[in-house]
Amino acid sequence: MKALVKRHAEKGLWMEEVPVPEVGPNEVLIKLEKTAICGTDLHIYKWDEWSQRTIKPGLTIGHEFVGRIVEIGPGVTGYKIGDRVSAEGHIVCGHCRNCRAGRQHLCPNTIGIGVNRNGAFAEYMTMPASNLWPIPDQIPSELAAFFDPYGNAAHCALEFDLVGEDVLITGAGPIGIIAAGIAKHVGARNVVVTDVNDYRLKLAADMGATRVVNVANQSLKDVMKDLHMEGFDVGLEMSGNPRAFNDMLDGMYHGGKIALLGILPKGAGIDWDRVIFKGLTLQGIYGRRMFETWYKMTQMVLTGFPLQKVLTHQIHIDDFQKGFDLMDAGVCGKVVCSWY
Ligand code: NAD
Ligand code: ZN
Repeated sequence: MKALVKRHAEKGLWMEEVPVPEVGPNEVLIKLEKTAICGTDLHIYKWDEWSQRTIKPGLTIGHEFVGRIVEIGPGVTGYKIGDRVSAEGHIVCGHCRNCRAGRQHLCPNTIGIGVNRNGAFAEYMTMPASNLWPIPDQIPSELAAFFDPYGNAAHCALEFDLVGEDVLITGAGPIGIIAAGIAKHVGARNVVVTDVNDYRLKLAADMGATRVVNVANQSLKDVMKDLHMEGFDVGLEMSGNPRAFNDMLDGMYHGGKIALLGILPKGAGIDWDRVIFKGLTLQGIYGRRMFETWYKMTQMVLTGFPLQKVLTHQIHIDDFQKGFDLMDAGVCGKVVCSWY
């Protein structure tokens, strides 16, 4: 079968012929229909410092996908051949304290597909049945393909009550754009989104942001004045940029709450005075809640959440290089690749 492999310890990805994986107990074999490109895949493509520390060459990358079950391993119940599924890409241990308490998103022994084991940029992949998420017929595959980052956005955006609140989202990458939509969908008042990329800010506005701010040429302070705002009630940090995070700390109202999804560089400094004297709450967000986030995402799409607005490019897998170039240039929302 074809698979997109990180073959060499250098920039690039290689489309190779590799064996179809064998399905083990409690697993299914999935024939991929679509795989979406994540920022993480771009990091692996570029072979940045994080990738060099984390990725073993020879790995098939990819973790945002939808496909159909073509083989069922011993012990699997509740699924049949032909079922269309996506899956939670974090495979948890099942025996730690958090797993046993129903907090699988906090399992310290998590293994990520496409990072720690072979992933979804392939014609076929195996998945533990307990990670599968069946996709209802009404949801098209090009949307189901990126439930993983949609889930990051939903987990983060739904961490705090947003009804009637003023929300600041720093970073209009695909996740920030979707989070802007969710904030509006669930009833926030002002949904202000910052970035330095006008293309993406426009997508955020289309998705539901009530105000977008290019912080390269406008200050958040001025925008707040314009909106007659004293501060934001809830902040969703989705850029991973220390300057954006400090802007956020500056813009928060006393007693505000921040959900942190963006991955900051090691040692990034923040103004702790802001956290302490404003009495801010900071909550780290990792992955998706299993499987409450998946449930909420599915129901939001089924009841009209316009997820399709962040999908800007659909390409054939043979054109994967074009997809990675688009991601690198930041001139896209989600890019979804088709396997046939
Ligand atoms: P992305 O890189 O596509 O988006 C980040 C955006 O931040 C970009 O559009 C960039 O232009 C913008 N930005 C840069 N400087 C800025 C500034 N000063 N102010 C405002 N915006 C600025 O990333 P994404 O795929 O949308 O993911 C968002 C973040 O979440 C990334 O940091 C990613 O690594 C992280 N992430 C975390 C988890 C988790 O489980 N915690 C999961 C997925 C992604
Ligand atoms: Zn565990």
